[in-house]
Amino acid sequence: MKYKSKQDFLKTVVDRYKDQEEFHQAVEEVVNSIWTVATKNKDYVSANILDRIVVPDRSILFRVSWVDDKGDVQVNLGYRIQFNSAIGPYKGGLRFHPNVNLGILKFLAFEQVFKNSLTGLNMGGGKGGSNFDPKGKSDREIMKFCQAFMNELYRHIGRRTDIPAGDIGVGAREIGYMFGQYKKIRNAFTGVLTGKGTNWGGSLIRPEATGYGLVYFVLNMLDTKNDSIKGKTVAVSGSGNVAQYACEKLIELGAKPVTLSDSSGFIYDPDGITQKKLEYVKKLKEVPSARISEYAKKYKVKFTPNKKPWGVKCDIALPCATQNELDLKDAKQLTKNGCYVVAEGANMPSTKDAVHHFIKEKILFGPGKAANAGGVAVSGIEMSQNSTRIPLTREQVDKLLKEIMEKIHTTCVKHGTQKGFVNYVDGANIGGFVRVADSMVDQGVI
Ligand code: NDP
Repeated sequence: MKYKSKQDFLKTVVDRYKDQEEFHQAVEEVVNSIWTVATKNKDYVSANILDRIVVPDRSILFRVSWVDDKGDVQVNLGYRIQFNSAIGPYKGGLRFHPNVNLGILKFLAFEQVFKNSLTGLNMGGGKGGSNFDPKGKSDREIMKFCQAFMNELYRHIGRRTDIPAGDIGVGAREIGYMFGQYKKIRNAFTGVLTGKGTNWGGSLIRPEATGYGLVYFVLNMLDTKNDSIKGKTVAVSGSGNVAQYACEKLIELGAKPVTLSDSSGFIYDPDGITQKKLEYVKKLKEVPSARISEYAKKYKVKFTPNKKPWGVKCDIALPCATQNELDLKDAKQLTKNGCYVVAEGANMPSTKDAVHHFIKEKILFGPGKAANAGGVAVSGIEMSQNSTRIPLTREQVDKLLKEIMEKIHTTCVKHGTQKGFVNYVDGANIGGFVRVADSMVDQGVI
């Protein structure tokens, strides 16, 4: 072993990529879980899996030039990180948000490797996006940007190579514009993106999949305590795709979501967000610049600006907005208020210290790479429908989604149970790692 300790190894990652804090955080979390497995297995050691698994296969950086409605030329940065393809073609979303940078996309792509492995499907890990801000842009500007982005991205993707999907700032509309441009350039109708419209190869339940899957994962966790979700009060953050469909499933199952948020603050509706109120949110949020504070005005509830919802009394918390949106102070507040289940709809929404607190308190804590894997799982199901050209019904996809979430839960329990307590962080990291590492060993040093 060339490293004296885990810290010694982590230091090499930090030294190599000095300004990529989110990437360091994601690597540290995984390495903390897998260290023993990775350093005791002689096949992994001789193939040097540890050094190889933290370096992407390739990081593609490109310029995106486009013309806005005023006729001015705009320039944005485009990225695609193809992290690991040991178990399948690269698969992972595209994020359009002004804070996007290489470190953030590398952390997301790294997480995606283990998440995709946990689904049991054949998908490697990737992620991409741009620092383009969709807020305040006209529909025509969004189209022009998406086309310009695809004018470069098309060289690097393909249905057997890399299949992007949506993420923050990229929904059905953006996928449509990018798909159209890819088809135009390649003169080929293929399932190169997922999250497509159902008229042109998309899967039913894909928009719902991450939020629904998150709640299915919570059901599995509660089941281990013979507990049910009915009547539980739930704090949800975000108000985009994941938050909306998590709320929808909670409402259907008789739980009471009481909060939603965006980057300007959160609303607290102590009577509970109903399906009717949720339909209002869905409509409102079709415009990226719309603010959740409108909900507070319409339904006469409290809006707290520039704060997150973690001070609200709840049984369950579902962070569904963005990375590092729940810190140690928030975590302490949640458990002090009686919250005993936290499941991450967003990727890495809890800081390192917050995660330690949840594990120390032995609450049910479902990390993103397990709890929010439903989205990519249904993307995988979309890919198989595109290959067979036979669309599945809503019921068929939902059944598969439930089965996959249950399987991920079982994997976490198998690899994460320590003295009767399920450490889902270790379970997800080890379960995801072993499949990828074994495949890398099988395929030689490449
Ligand atoms: P959306 O763009 O649909 O919604 C994002 C939500 O998060 C918005 O309410 C947005 O508010 C809020 N948000 C974004 N950035 C910040 C910030 N810096 N501070 C506070 N709030 C913020 O994205 P999704 O719902 O698709 O994604 C949410 C999370 O879930 C992300 O972490 C994503 O990676 C993860 N995820 C998504 C999957 C999917 O299938 N869509 C799959 C798995 C994980 P505002 O409008 O003010 O920006």
